[in-house]
Amino acid sequence: MVLKGRKEEKKSERKYWDEKFETLPLPELQKFQLRKLKETVEWVYERVPFYKRKFDEAGVNPKAIKSLEDIARLPFTVKNDLRDNYPFGLCAVPLKEVVRVHASSGTTGKPITGPYTAEDLEQWTELMARNLWAAGVRPDDIAQNAYGHGLFTGGLGFHQGLTRLGCTVVPTSSGLTERQITIMKDFGVTALFCTPSYALTIAERAAEMKVDIRALPLRVGVFGAEPWSTAMRQEIEERMGIRAQEAYGLTELCGPGVGFDCEVQDGIHINEDHFIAEIVDPQTLEPLPLGEKGELVFTALQRRAMPMIRYRTKDITRLRREQCACGRTFVKMDKIYGRSDDMLIISGVNVFPSQIESLLLEIPEVEPQYRLVVRKKGYLDQLIVQVEGRRDIYEAGPEKRLEVAARVMAHIRGMMGIGVDVEIVEPKFIARSEGKALRVVDERPKQFR
Ligand code: ADP
Ligand code: ZN
Repeated sequence: MVLKGRKEEKKSERKYWDEKFETLPLPELQKFQLRKLKETVEWVYERVPFYKRKFDEAGVNPKAIKSLEDIARLPFTVKNDLRDNYPFGLCAVPLKEVVRVHASSGTTGKPITGPYTAEDLEQWTELMARNLWAAGVRPDDIAQNAYGHGLFTGGLGFHQGLTRLGCTVVPTSSGLTERQITIMKDFGVTALFCTPSYALTIAERAAEMKVDIRALPLRVGVFGAEPWSTAMRQEIEERMGIRAQEAYGLTELCGPGVGFDCEVQDGIHINEDHFIAEIVDPQTLEPLPLGEKGELVFTALQRRAMPMIRYRTKDITRLRREQCACGRTFVKMDKIYGRSDDMLIISGVNVFPSQIESLLLEIPEVEPQYRLVVRKKGYLDQLIVQVEGRRDIYEAGPEKRLEVAARVMAHIRGMMGIGVDVEIVEPKFIARSEGKALRVVDERPKQFR
């Protein structure tokens, strides 16, 4: 395994955290999944009235699950089901067996909860250790965990995995960016954990503080919790002089620990011994074959407190089952294109913020700080891309700004075939992210959204 970085790998070191499962041949993996699927379906049917009612309505009895394909007979679960059953209506165990509750941010309504039994926590910790190991994090790393600590699963999820690996954990949580940078420097931090947009905020602030992160011992980062383009990954790698790895997950399924990328950095392996992933057509909800793009749906196979059955994530991606050079057999998904919530339809074309992001990163005169404003112009939706100009460009005056805006516009039209308006805004105009970045500002009247 070749890892970019300053630390030498020990020859005798294990290659995988959990070799048995991570390299399980497909037929054995599927046998295992089927056994766990049957157990889980029975588990929730017997313990959660919501599932019993839904399965009964759909006319499926747990005993009807005889093959993995039979999963398609089970009804979907959606975010609103969690909200309607807030806080603990989908919990399959009595609260006295629950040792931890996480919750999502709840920006779009009531938050949703994620309860854990002690066994669930242990599994989650192992999944995180597995993912961190694949990312090249090692016990001798000094790990700065700048994911928000608290109800958000990022902070404690990474904390548990890093502790399991035996790293020197520094739980900075997010925010107080100058202090993050001072600690990074003073403690000799070698590994950083946060959202990609916060990594960028840290890199920018460090440059302003005249701290050269590239010259520090920092060598690897594991970033996730929001969509980011491959171009953004390269930007972070370049600015920090590190290897930027990815983690994927959601509150409903233990947060980070659902998927991770390996040293190949070509797709996110899904921990298939714990989660069955499907791709469905977001309109018809029909399962789509491997390789087709659609909505990601997960069934948790080993969780006790709140196993989700066919949970619709709203995340859009594609699954690929191929031999990965890392030797892992778990299916890979493409980087998330975006959430269906954030998908814009401009001139009839589906647009995800991350597509615009990668195009902006190709224009050297602008900073990777942007937001997309959607307005109504007559009957049409108008997309305004606000992106910060580099300071020298911005200060060169309105003519220069218009020239750069025209170039960005032409690039987006050329690559995506859509007409957008571009505003080159002043450096620091866009609020800096400490967690999940806000990319889309929808200014259309409510009835048009
Ligand atoms: P919220 O729904 O409040 O944002 P979560 O923290 O549970 O709460 O967010 C989970 C969502 O974050 C995922 O469904 C996905 O949209 C996004 N996400 C997490 N990791 C990644 C990633 N690596 N790439 C893209 N999106 C991600
Ligand atoms: Zn791999």
